[in-house]
Amino acid sequence: MANQDPANRSHALFDQFVQAQTCKEVQRTFSELCQHLQVDPRQYQSFYTKLKESLNYWKAKALWVKLDKRAQHQDYQQGKICARNKCLVLGAGPCGLRTAIELALLGAQVVVLEKRDSFARNNVLHLWPYTICDLRGLAAKMFYGRFCTGALDHVSIRQLQLILLKVALLLGVEVHTRVEFKGFVEPTGTTGWMATVLPDNHPAGKFQFDVFISAGGGAICFRRKELRGKLAIGITCNFINRHTAEEAQVAEISGVARIYNQKFFKDLQTETGIDLENIVYYKDDTHYFVMTAKKKSLLMMGVIKKDFADADQLLAQANVDHEALLRYAHGAAHFSTGRRLPNMTFANNHAGQPDVAMFDFTCMHRSENASLVRERRGKKLLIGLVGDCLVEPFWPLGTGIARGFLAAFDAAWMVRSWGKGKAPLEVLAERESIYQLLSQTTPENISKNYSAFSIDPATRYQHINLKSIKTNQVQQLYDVEDHL
Ligand code: FAD
Repeated sequence: MANQDPANRSHALFDQFVQAQTCKEVQRTFSELCQHLQVDPRQYQSFYTKLKESLNYWKAKALWVKLDKRAQHQDYQQGKICARNKCLVLGAGPCGLRTAIELALLGAQVVVLEKRDSFARNNVLHLWPYTICDLRGLAAKMFYGRFCTGALDHVSIRQLQLILLKVALLLGVEVHTRVEFKGFVEPTGTTGWMATVLPDNHPAGKFQFDVFISAGGGAICFRRKELRGKLAIGITCNFINRHTAEEAQVAEISGVARIYNQKFFKDLQTETGIDLENIVYYKDDTHYFVMTAKKKSLLMMGVIKKDFADADQLLAQANVDHEALLRYAHGAAHFSTGRRLPNMTFANNHAGQPDVAMFDFTCMHRSENASLVRERRGKKLLIGLVGDCLVEPFWPLGTGIARGFLAAFDAAWMVRSWGKGKAPLEVLAERESIYQLLSQTTPENISKNYSAFSIDPATRYQHINLKSIKTNQVQQLYDVEDHL
């Protein structure tokens, strides 16, 4: 009757949590584990320590060693530095969760709101070396055994979210799925900053916070700059990976750009009519391809029905023949893998449809600022952006996660200064000084001492001046309006 032994039961529940493969399963197994061990995640300040004490077996211990190592970093001052801060994070995408983890390590109370209830994105993210090192430090391999095995430098978006969700929960972050952030409720004489949420009776609507981090992917709150390039049409597609020996032998394409391999693209066009600027193929949970296609060939192959100068009109649903798009994506994937991938069947997306999508990268947006302070009735709210809503990434270059995590660390550094009681204008000026560097970062120009990376920007950016922006240049970001 080994199963009835409470210790074995807790080990089994812990294993189920570690192995969980959907967002719901992670939440369910976490709640069962907490109930069984009688530890309350709402006691966020003591939760991690209590959990560790209750789960003292080898597998869990290996995880605690990793997380302790991170938590003991001097930047967090043993979680005391932000012990009085309450942070609301919008979005449980990779950047929202990565930020939430750092805020929890700083000792803040952290609540994450996510409008969806599943992690369904098959698409695969390219990881810069520092992100691999960072995720290994958070025990990614324990949660996902195939994480960056050998020379692999990518992970599917959903696997990354699962890893980060597990770490966040263990550190006492409260994550509410199926809760949509709609806006702010300004403080009254007796209450602080709160959020309007859907469903409107959800307890998260009662949470009072002094820090708000938007990691919602799209535009929120801030003015944005448009960076218009030449027309760039991206196509992503995913095929089922059956993990056979035959599939294992097909080589990945870590980025073939037209300028480097003209013959490949010429042959592709001659044999299939498909004309591409570049293509990437990663073998992950799925066989994932991302490519930039030329408009002329999309028109010739009937994928785009009518030519328009405006990219929105050009790629509007009604102007795209979906079946032709499937054929185009299949053809490109088939050719570029030397026709060696057997039985290429599209994987399904969240809607149960073949996972193929076409996107416009012609216009990329970037927020003008990364931070803002609002003050009403003497109550201050620090607002920061991270991830895609700060700087939109160009997927074929995989900048989403790399710059997204850098911004997550920078935002945590900003909250640290806030927690230390620095004046709002100083916090803003420092954050905006750091933000100047983000869009110029490449794997080559950031510091190479990855294991020393922390939320302190000096560990990551090679030439940093935390005072390049002065307090008098950020006064418009300190929005004080007293209604009294
Ligand atoms: P996201 O991952 O977009 O997460 C934002 C989260 O916020 C979402 O879960 C969303 O549901 C939630 N949210 C938004 N608004 C609200 C609200 N009001 N209330 C509550 N929750 C909210 N990058 C690549 O490199 N390669 C790819 O192939 C690729 N494919 C992608 C496909 C899709 C459909 C999308 C949306 C993005 C893709 N990306 C890709 C971009 C990549 O996913 C991001 O760069 C990366 O996930 C980091 O983004 P993030 O965490 O900032 O935002």
